[in-house]
Amino acid sequence: MQLFDSLSKTLKTIDKKELKIYACGVTVYDNIHIGHARLYLCLDVLLRLFDFKNIKYKYVRNITDVDDKIINKAIKENKSFKTVASKYTTQMQKDFNDLGLINPQSEPKATDSIDEIINFINKLISKNYAYKSSNGDILFDVSKFKNYGELSKRDLENQVTQLRVNSSKDNTSDFVLWKVDNIDEPTWDSPFGKGRPGWHIECSAMICKELGETIDIHAGGEDLKFPHHENEIAQSEACFNKSLSNVWMHVGHLNIKGEKMSKSLGNFIKVKDILTNYHKDIVRLSLLTAHYKKQQDFTIKQMHQADKLLFNIHRLSVKPNSDSHKLNTLESHYFLKALMNDLNTPIAIEQFHKIISKIEHEKNTNDALVMKNDLYLMANILGIKSDDNQKTSFFRFGLNSDEIIKIENLLNKREQARSDKNWILADEIRDKLCEMNVSVYDDTNKSWWSRTII
Ligand SMILES: [Zn+2]
Repeated sequence: MQLFDSLSKTLKTIDKKELKIYACGVTVYDNIHIGHARLYLCLDVLLRLFDFKNIKYKYVRNITDVDDKIINKAIKENKSFKTVASKYTTQMQKDFNDLGLINPQSEPKATDSIDEIINFINKLISKNYAYKSSNGDILFDVSKFKNYGELSKRDLENQVTQLRVNSSKDNTSDFVLWKVDNIDEPTWDSPFGKGRPGWHIECSAMICKELGETIDIHAGGEDLKFPHHENEIAQSEACFNKSLSNVWMHVGHLNIKGEKMSKSLGNFIKVKDILTNYHKDIVRLSLLTAHYKKQQDFTIKQMHQADKLLFNIHRLSVKPNSDSHKLNTLESHYFLKALMNDLNTPIAIEQFHKIISKIEHEKNTNDALVMKNDLYLMANILGIKSDDNQKTSFFRFGLNSDEIIKIENLLNKREQARSDKNWILADEIRDKLCEMNVSVYDDTNKSWWSRTII
């Protein structure tokens, strides 16, 4: 398996049998959006690929439950920061679950890791990488860490030498490890005074606690490269004098109509809203159609294409009888090869179209069955389950039981019309179903139906 490392800008080979994986989690002050969904879905496919290849891993994803954004929201809503963090943690976990993501083995919260954070800061102070500023905050001294800026390739000479008048920092790039605060909650006692941790230090402390000094894969959104990941590297490598991660995996932005999705532009799509209107497999497949490293434009057209492909996957895939999970076709071989080569999901998805057209050509031969089994396994590696229940949930998504009964009655009438060779009536019923956003597909011995997305 090869993965692109954003730090060395090279492809690195992942050949261990047991991996340590960390992803920066969500700051829980609002609902998660589909940009988050893209990041964690890409990572989810990577984990499923490791599962398929029998590569073991420990996957840790933190929860940032103390942060200025949470505190500001709590003040605005006249609630405690814990109430705000707890509400959005619950919603985030529901959204992740609804997206069908593999759960991390550990999901540490910043507020449960205060002792580890304090110990980490103490080590940095003792190694002379941190200092107390004039206002009492503990800051990391970036001028002491010679590789600072290597990940984001920023022009740090300027930043480090710019002394800001009236600033309590020795230089402007220094960042907060511990913010002293005697008045406003939340605060914790510490050897540096009452206060709370800065954002970056929690990841360094949690990685060390959960996974050790060096990990195999550190994942996060592209926008976390600077300052967050740059600062994580500085803290951890200053502390242990070892590389923090073998691979830095960064997932690109999600754009809406060419613009980065953001609240201020009003183009912010919440996961819970999109999952109300679209089946989770459509959201998953749409978000996997671009390579994870690239920025992606999220469009309705992608959703329609994904819907069409999923209809064919669910219509044609057959769960293999044996548990051998062996892939047998040329298409599945190229599918796996694409994923093993830096998780190239767009090339992998192309193989679905190829194998589907071959299955359609072969119809019901033994070769077709082998391909249908591979189609099932390929979908499964992307996190698309195609067991009978899941097929039904996909085909009938968003319909209530009365609507399903009505549709099935019409379909029965249509079957009768077809067996009576009353093609005019059969077509009329089909048109009526079409008006109800139901598409019908006639296979050789079975008619399939599915609601169509608008
Ligand atoms: Zn982090």
